[in-house]
Amino acid sequence: MPKKSLPCPQKKLEEISQQYGTPFYLYSEKEIHHRATLLRKAFDCFTGFQEFFAIKATPTPKIMELFRDYGFGMDASSIAELVLCEKLGITGENIMFSSNGTKPEEFRKAQEMGAIINVDDISLLDNLSASGCSFPELICFRINPGNKKTGNTIIGNPVDAKFGITLDQVIPAYKKAKALGAKRFGIHTMTGSNILDEHYFPETTTLLTDIAKELKSELDIDLEFINIGGGFGIPYREEEEELNIENIAKNIQKIFINAFPEHQPKLFMEIGRWLTGPTGWLISKVVSRKDIYKKYVVLDSSMADLMRPGMYNAYHHISIANDEKKTEIVDVVGSLCENNDKFAIDRELPVSKQGDLVVIHDTGAHGRAMGFNYNGKLRAQEILLRTDGTTQRIRRPETLEDYFSTLIF
Ligand SMILES: *Cc1c(COP(=O)(O)O)cnc(C)c1O
Repeated sequence: MPKKSLPCPQKKLEEISQQYGTPFYLYSEKEIHHRATLLRKAFDCFTGFQEFFAIKATPTPKIMELFRDYGFGMDASSIAELVLCEKLGITGENIMFSSNGTKPEEFRKAQEMGAIINVDDISLLDNLSASGCSFPELICFRINPGNKKTGNTIIGNPVDAKFGITLDQVIPAYKKAKALGAKRFGIHTMTGSNILDEHYFPETTTLLTDIAKELKSELDIDLEFINIGGGFGIPYREEEEELNIENIAKNIQKIFINAFPEHQPKLFMEIGRWLTGPTGWLISKVVSRKDIYKKYVVLDSSMADLMRPGMYNAYHHISIANDEKKTEIVDVVGSLCENNDKFAIDRELPVSKQGDLVVIHDTGAHGRAMGFNYNGKLRAQEILLRTDGTTQRIRRPETLEDYFSTLIF
C-alpha cells in the first residue's frame, strides 16, 4: 500500500509557503497529466469515448484549461460554469449541461452555447421550451434507477435522491421530447460518488444499455451516447486501493458489444474527483496548540476552505511537514465558530509546534470549490506546481473587499 507523501520535498514546500503565504491549495500539473493519461489510455478501446470533466470538482480556469488541452469536454451545471467554459473557448457539444431545478434562462445560456442538454425531470421540458431558443435537436435525460441501484452518503440512495427521472418515466419522457422536436438522443445517470467498487460502473452501464434497448423497441430511438456519469472513487485512506480503471473499461466494453453487436453508441463520462482529488493538497500553518480536555492543533485554514470532513465526516489523510518522530493523538481544527470545524478527530500525528506546515491530502476535488464565507472567513488561494518545478498562482486569496462587495450599508 503506497504511503501518502508530501506534494514536494519539505524544503520546497516551505519556500512556496514563504513566497505565497498560507493557507493555500497546491495542485500538481504532473499528477493531473498522469491521471488524465491513465483515464484516456484505459478507455482508448472505445470509439468516440469522451470525458466531460465535472467542473464543480475544481472550477479553476487553469485546471480546466489543462483538461481542455487534453481533449476533454466539460460537465457544467450552472450559468457560472457555462461562462467559465465560454471564457476558455469551450463550446458546443464539448459541454454536457447537467443541472437540476433548471430555469429557462439557464437552459437558454446552455442552448446558445450549443451544449448537450441533459434534462433532470419531465416537468423541466416546459422550462426548456420556455427558454426562447428552439427545442434542442439533441436531448438527454438523467435516469434515477431507484431501488435497482445502491448509492452512498455523498449522493444518497437513488430512491431518496432528488435527481433524475424514474424508470417508469423513461418512455413518456423521450416520447414527449420527440414530440417537441428532438431528433438525436442520449442517456445519463449518476448514482454514486467516490465509489471504490469496480463492479459498480459496469452494473450502471447494464442498467442504461437495458433502457437503450427498450427505447429502441418502444420508440425506435437509437441512442448516440450513453453517459455513465462520474463517481470514480479515490483512496482517501492509506489502506484503500486505487480503482482498476482498465478492468472497468474492459467490462463496460463487453457489455456494450453484447448489447449493441453492430453499432455501439459513444461512451461518455463525467469524472471529477478521480482526476483532481489526489492532485491537490490544502497547505496550512499551525497557529496555536491547545491543551484542554483534548489536545487541539489549530490551523490557519478552516472548514470554510474544506468542508468535506465537517459535512460528510469525510476522512482526509494529514501530514505534518516536520522531522518529528514522536506522535500524539490530536484533533486538527480550524478557527470557525462551529464545533464541526475539524479536519481530523483523535488522529495520531507527529508532535507539531506553532508555525509547522500541515498538509491535508486529496483535497484537489470538491475542496476549495465547496468553500464558503460563513463567519466572515475568506477562502484560500490556489497555486499550481508546474511540471518544470516552478509555481504559479492560479487564484488569489479572497480579500475583505471581496467579502464586502455585496453588502449594502
Ligand atoms: C458531481 C457530479 C459529477 C462528478 O462526480 P465525481 O464523483 O466528482 O466524479 C458528475 N456528474 C454530475 C451530474 C455531477 O453532479
